Amino acid sequence: MAKLYFRYGAMNSGKSTSLMQVAYNYEERDQKVIVMKSSIDTKGDSYLVSRIGLRRKVDVLLQPRDTLCEKMGNLSGIACILVDEAQFLTPRQVDELYEIAKRIDIPVICYGLRSDFKTQGFPGSIRLLELADELEELVTICRCGKRAKLNARKVGGKFVKDGDQVAIDGNDDVTYESLCGECYLKYVGSILKESTPEVSEQSLEKVLKLTK
Ligand SMILES: [Zn+2]
Repeated sequence: MAKLYFRYGAMNSGKSTSLMQVAYNYEERDQKVIVMKSSIDTKGDSYLVSRIGLRRKVDVLLQPRDTLCEKMGNLSGIACILVDEAQFLTPRQVDELYEIAKRIDIPVICYGLRSDFKTQGFPGSIRLLELADELEELVTICRCGKRAKLNARKVGGKFVKDGDQVAIDGNDDVTYESLCGECYLKYVGSILKESTPEVSEQSLEKVLKLTK
């Protein structure tokens, strides 16, 4: 039976590039894929944009309230479903992808961030970590040379600790830097006050509100 994969990594770990490479490999063998991403990621509009310059139009631009099966239509002949920015999926959409993998036997590969700039999980990522058959971490390097696991947000070039979970880089002077744990605590600060159990609920509400 096909598997649900979650390939996660911090910013700049090559997630979109890797996705486009996988899509290319299928298509080179005349196999059809569906490439999708969430509309919450406004960067590139309906295109995937990788930092090394690759671009590809998405087949499905997904709204948080969309039902995946309706949106994708007939899945016969589809060899693989590829999802970019999967942290922005709702938990229900992740559940749907899992059922597609298991019931229709189509592999689903999701690429996304594990956690936000406050080190908290995104609703979609949390569900993917719970359900995925295979987890794979994509690696990027911190400014100190260690493996970067966390995402720090900067506004106007300065690290910030507060703000909404979702702020797309390039908008409103927002940028991100991938950091290792030690550098995160050193430059951004302690994570202790953010550790509240309600955070994932609040995060989901925020993602859903964006489309109202
Ligand atoms: Zn570091």
